[in-house]
Amino acid sequence: MIEAYKFECLMKDLEIIFTPIELNKRDQVLEKYYEHLKNTDEDILKKAVESLIDCHPYKRFPLIQEIRETIKEVYNRSDFSKSEDDPVDCKKCDGIGETIEDREHLGRLYPTAIPCECEAGERWKRRLKKYKMRK
Ligand SMILES: [Zn+2]
Repeated sequence: MIEAYKFECLMKDLEIIFTPIELNKRDQVLEKYYEHLKNTDEDILKKAVESLIDCHPYKRFPLIQEIRETIKEVYNRSDFSKSEDDPVDCKKCDGIGETIEDREHLGRLYPTAIPCECEAGERWKRRLKKYKMRK
């Protein structure tokens, strides 16, 4: 939930960059925008506005739907990066995500990197998957 005056400040930021809302219907338009977007977390909306200004995909003032899409993106991104950066406390792999185990290959044992079962191991597997997709 965001307060009306804070919401208007953010919309003003958008009006600096994009074609401003027509003055004679500005109040009604902003009221509609507020009605639809007021349940958004203030920080998320701030980031969404920054992101809209940053990528500049429209010349006109962004539609409610477009702001909503950006909010969704920001939300997903912040969640994702948070979990990727959080250090993992794992005694087995020290948070590195992989452990070295001897695996048999052609009758001989070779030390092999194995993804750990913890969150760091999951990230390790995700990185490997991304790497393989690039090839
Ligand atoms: Zn681990």
